[in-house]
Amino acid sequence: SPHLLPESVREDFPILDQRVHDGRPLVFLDSAASSHRPRQVIDAIVQCYSHDYANVHRGIHTLSERATDAYELAREKVRGFLGAEHAEEVVFTGGTTAAINAVARAWGDANVGPDDEILLTPMEHHSNLVPWFQLAERTGASIKHIPLTEDGRLDLDRLDEVLTDRTKLCAFASVSNTLGTINPVKELTRRAHESGAVVLVDAAQSAPHMVTDVRQLGVDFLALSGHKMCGPSGVGVLYGRRELLAQTPPFMGGGSMINRVYLDRFTPADIPTRFEAGTPPIAGAIALGAAVDYLQSVGLDAIHRHEEALIDHAWERLQEVPGIRLLGPGPTQRAGLVSFVLERPHPHDIAQLLDFDGVAVRAGHHCTQPLHDLLGITASTRASFYLYNRPEEIDVLVESLKKIGDRFKPSGRKRRRKQ
Ligand code: PMP
Repeated sequence: SPHLLPESVREDFPILDQRVHDGRPLVFLDSAASSHRPRQVIDAIVQCYSHDYANVHRGIHTLSERATDAYELAREKVRGFLGAEHAEEVVFTGGTTAAINAVARAWGDANVGPDDEILLTPMEHHSNLVPWFQLAERTGASIKHIPLTEDGRLDLDRLDEVLTDRTKLCAFASVSNTLGTINPVKELTRRAHESGAVVLVDAAQSAPHMVTDVRQLGVDFLALSGHKMCGPSGVGVLYGRRELLAQTPPFMGGGSMINRVYLDRFTPADIPTRFEAGTPPIAGAIALGAAVDYLQSVGLDAIHRHEEALIDHAWERLQEVPGIRLLGPGPTQRAGLVSFVLERPHPHDIAQLLDFDGVAVRAGHHCTQPLHDLLGITASTRASFYLYNRPEEIDVLVESLKKIGDRFKPSGRKRRRKQ
């Protein structure tokens, strides 16, 4: 397979250049859980804390002004990254989970009632399920799901069965963190809007890997995590369409989110500050701005094409592993990850044995238990790719899996003897 990105990309990530387990080169295939950061992002963090750090929006002194400028510049960078029209549509949060919970609490409590329906999908991460279950418990609203096809895509032919004039909100992932499915965000958003629903997209697994354009997609809310897109952990983004955000009351109370506080009441600040109570993730947001710069300098389209090539290679080579079951749709409809099960051993054991060969993957339910229930399994193993991965690393994965498969092959003779 060709290298579609410059070799120098790999060298930007110092953490990847190490050996584990008796000198085996690290093969990191777990970026869907959390990616790594390039030197450029690490440098931005060092620069912030060693030169420009103070609390933002408060002090009238040089360092506070520098930090505030850098923080607001990061907001502007994220605005550009998302194709949003206004910087005040960008709210810094602790991550995707915090962003979705903020919408469920702030917008949900103010707008959802007992006759309303919340439309989800069975492939959602727990963080795009549980906040809605909690909202349904508080309000009496009911939960519905868009059915899946056999191969793990959303079955839009059956959307009318579940999308009704009672649907208040449709919340779904742009890319499934377990199946890898790329969902048709634009079409689903259009149809949800036609029946009067508000749309929230969990972009945790798409924002790192392909262009996001909130205006082109037409979504109302969108959530992402910095740590999955070369940024630091502890920071994420909630995008909200301006008209909608402006009508939404704050949910978390505290400093910064107010306009004026009296002995027994307060008036809220404007957006986005209204949703940024307390001291925000200052260095995190600034470094997320640096991550956005980095991804854009490499090019989101180039990253996406690189990952398509990795997926094609993985899809072809993984079929060589006897008895492997690959989860989700074929290579043309998925982003850069692939989950699988072998008949034996258990995914946790597979991950452990791969680790002995230097290969880092994720094993378990990946916070998608309902999906695993539907698939009739309790766990799977997931290999996920990012801009720094190479086809040769997939070859290491495949050879190691073959070895594991051989070792755990149900040996006919032994079996028969036992029976
Ligand atoms: N949604 C999806 C699709 C994810 O993959 C993840 C992270 N695994 C999350 C939400 C939650 O993100 P975070 O833990 O950063 O809040």
